[in-house]
Amino acid sequence: MSSQIIGTPSGVHRLAQERRVVTGIPGPRSRELQERRAAAVAPGVSSVLPVYVADAGGGVVVDVDGNSLIDFGSGIAVTNVGNANPRVAERVAAQAERFTHTCFMVAPYESYVAVCEALNRLTPGDHDKRTFLVNSGAEAVENAVKAARYATGRQAIVAFDHGYHGRTLLTMTLTAKNMPYKHGFGPYAPEVYRMPMAYPFRWPGGAENCGPEAAAQAIDQITKQIGPENVAGVVIEPIQGEGGFIEPAPGFLPAIADFCRTHGILFIADEVQTGFARTGDLFACEHEGVVPDIVTTAKGIAGGLPLAAVTGRADVLDKIHPGGLGGTYGGNPVSCEAALAVLEEIENEKLVDRARAIGEVMLPRLRALADRHPEIGDVRGRGAMTAVELVRGAGAKEPNPELTAEVARRCHAAGLLVLTAGTHGNVLRFLPPLVIPEHLLSEGLDVLEESFAAAASAG
Ligand SMILES: *Cc1c(COP(=O)(O)O)cnc(C)c1O
Repeated sequence: MSSQIIGTPSGVHRLAQERRVVTGIPGPRSRELQERRAAAVAPGVSSVLPVYVADAGGGVVVDVDGNSLIDFGSGIAVTNVGNANPRVAERVAAQAERFTHTCFMVAPYESYVAVCEALNRLTPGDHDKRTFLVNSGAEAVENAVKAARYATGRQAIVAFDHGYHGRTLLTMTLTAKNMPYKHGFGPYAPEVYRMPMAYPFRWPGGAENCGPEAAAQAIDQITKQIGPENVAGVVIEPIQGEGGFIEPAPGFLPAIADFCRTHGILFIADEVQTGFARTGDLFACEHEGVVPDIVTTAKGIAGGLPLAAVTGRADVLDKIHPGGLGGTYGGNPVSCEAALAVLEEIENEKLVDRARAIGEVMLPRLRALADRHPEIGDVRGRGAMTAVELVRGAGAKEPNPELTAEVARRCHAAGLLVLTAGTHGNVLRFLPPLVIPEHLLSEGLDVLEESFAAAASAG
């Protein structure tokens, strides 16, 4: 049973694995830091929580006032192996004592090569692959587009409704949502086209027909509006992250991938949020057996150290001239050591199974919660990437961002870190570290249930 899989990995955690609210959220020390921040930090960078972190590990984040919050965020799907994972911390420290940087483009080192070998082996498909390393998810997506354009000699790039791909000019252009990501930051990059997404809960023809209908519509629009012979690549998240954990209806991804193959279009899977065991597969594309031409990874790759990767078909990436790709910090040696530790942890601690077990605990409880609260219109996700979408009432589709914010606020006050998402801001999403102990997973769900009950009786 799942309870045997979920537990403390390899023994004990350094921090007490408990929820503890001792000062109220935020406490006095956090409030002081909040004031300093307001005078020093650009307000365009915002934070979900009003507390400042002192420590974190296992399933908790501890703040500067001694409050211990249950972590259902993992720093946005980054600390899948746990925050300050001991194996990661050890390899990082050892590397930091040897050398911190040479620039791989100046003087290379083994760990970069080892990370590329591992990604070539582990990403979907057993074809010949190449990888190169960069610093962030956005940089990986930018580079995937560069590679697709170079290899095909074409310009158009297709993205989808509700997609999120980053905050640089090109990735902001690929991103669907105006506020807060794009508003006032234009003009955007040219030759980006947006297609409908197979969003089961909101598909006009109903969830049952969503996969084939959405695929047909997207393919029809690409054919008529762009012309497949002009399309370099299609960029898609196999489960959309910031867009609201939208799991494309069955059949959609395979149909788009088939269309791409037929027309020499490169299928680029943005696995930045879904990768590294999060969804109960090592990569989310595996769920429907989709083999992408290019995969972008970041977030969960290195336990929180900045690293990202582009892994693609060898015949695609081998075309690009030496010097055409790279960057000063890309594949930093400290980050590469962290990534190698993360990959060992995923395997040794069976974190793919653990993610599935987390889903088996969470999804039934979220569905039971939805039975009691008609404002939960949809429960979805896979593995340790689950969400509820909030609407105005039974059978309604109108988004309810106010209740979403209210429940999130109550969770935070009670010591549970949850994140919101969605084009309409009406999705609560849950991304616990895969090493969270079962009692904290269960207690976090208790807090969520209590927060819903309290918000319902208050409203
Ligand atoms: C977070 C994210 C990005 C951007 O990654 P950064 O490291 O923040 O640049 C790109 N794609 C997806 C799917 C993401 O979730």
